[in-house]
Amino acid sequence: MTEQRQIDIMITGEPPTCPRCGEEGLLLVDVPYGWTNAGGTAADGRNGVVLCAGCDARVPHAAPLITWFHVHGVADDGDDEFVRLLVAWAQHVHGSALDMDALDAEAELWRHGLL
Ligand SMILES: [Zn+2]
Repeated sequence: MTEQRQIDIMITGEPPTCPRCGEEGLLLVDVPYGWTNAGGTAADGRNGVVLCAGCDARVPHAAPLITWFHVHGVADDGDDEFVRLLVAWAQHVHGSALDMDALDAEAELWRHGLL
């Protein structure tokens, strides 16, 4: 069993509201967190995370994703670049060290792809 996590993109008819600033967010992502917490209890749940152009502008992995939205407008999970950026951001959001090697590889990929 690998540590590959499924990240579900929830796209609603209306833009999500950012819980931090109350402005319109770009994207709501539903991310499962299935690992054992500090208390030894398996944390099996899901966490809705809003990508906000304002609040997340300085978050390292959010910036390229926000830029992607500026270019493409709406989420497209059939777009390889979008999925790559989304995965990198979602993993960063959780502050998780689950798969840092893969994350580094992803970061390397988008640097080559975008610059
Ligand atoms: Zn915000």
